Amino acid sequence: MQFEHIPHPSPLSDAEREAILANPGFGTNFTDHMVTIEWTDEAGWHDARVEPRAPIQLDPAAAVLHYAQEIFEGLKAYRHGDGSIALFRPDQNARRLNASADRLAMPHVPEDLFIEAIRQLIAVDGAWVPSAEGSSLYLRPFMIATEAFLGVRPAKRYKFMVIAGPAGNYFKSGAPAVSLWISDYTRAAPGGTGAAKCGGNYAASLVPTREAFSRGHDQVLFLDAVEHKWVEELGGMNVFFAFDDGRVITPPLTGTILPGITRDSLIQLLREEGLEVSEEAYSIDQWRADAESGKLVESFACGTAAVVTPIGKVAGHDGEFTIGSGGPGQLTSKVRERLVAIQRGTTADTHGWVLTVG
Ligand SMILES: *Cc1c(COP(=O)(O)O)cnc(C)c1O
Repeated sequence: MQFEHIPHPSPLSDAEREAILANPGFGTNFTDHMVTIEWTDEAGWHDARVEPRAPIQLDPAAAVLHYAQEIFEGLKAYRHGDGSIALFRPDQNARRLNASADRLAMPHVPEDLFIEAIRQLIAVDGAWVPSAEGSSLYLRPFMIATEAFLGVRPAKRYKFMVIAGPAGNYFKSGAPAVSLWISDYTRAAPGGTGAAKCGGNYAASLVPTREAFSRGHDQVLFLDAVEHKWVEELGGMNVFFAFDDGRVITPPLTGTILPGITRDSLIQLLREEGLEVSEEAYSIDQWRADAESGKLVESFACGTAAVVTPIGKVAGHDGEFTIGSGGPGQLTSKVRERLVAIQRGTTADTHGWVLTVG
């Protein structure tokens, strides 16, 4: 597909951009351009363009505004030491977007079109990929239903877009490990949309997240919806548990957990470290008992935005427990470094995970 190019008439100056890149934060600053591709029932994907980032026009009856027919992805572009720009496993993001599209009755974006859209954005906004350690350009591909129609059925018009913004550390720096609040709310029920990356899941997680914050915690921990017993994941991160005998557990993908690409990558990296990783249900009571007995030595959360983040403390109505020393453990630090080294190109990419795009 040919992309039409409409350059920004007044992009930020180099000095303004560099000032933002020096202290990027997360999710508040954006690059100069965006990609838009339209879809209709009759024409499929068409009218691809790279254009100045600007508010979009939507009919007030657009389906996304009423029934939340929206899905998204999140991935990062990294600046390598030689100045090139690389993505980490973008084919997996493309595949997952289409799995989410299936669940939300939306059209597929061909994998090569998904990656080409990102290439096109990086081709114009590559200067926005920061080089400082721990920083990257966060890419947010997403799809919305734009058809103006208030009846309830899958829409017949969609927009796929890619926006991007520089990202530093997701959690406030200085926090050695995060503290979790065990929510009474649930994130996903069997047969629901828990495995799809859709905005609706996040809308439902905002009250529990606010509750966790107001109780002084960094993140919410969700248990399963049926027994309220099994650990599922955080609002936007998967979890791992490491034991003193070299075993590692992460909850299985039974449809209520988001299949994280970081999760999948860490399973592989941990196995390469000689650890025995099993995808296995783990209960909150067992977690507490194992943390208290010392059998459980580390726990961490993972996702593209937060990378690998140690979990220091878990709290609920029955009190709280601390994991290990309450700070980052050895395995957590090691596996985080290993992953980051592959993403940043400071170690060999033996898995074919890194795609150079600029
Ligand atoms: C995106 C997401 C993750 C992490 O997925 P990655 O591919 O590792 O970034 C985990 N949980 C939820 C709910 C998510 O939306």
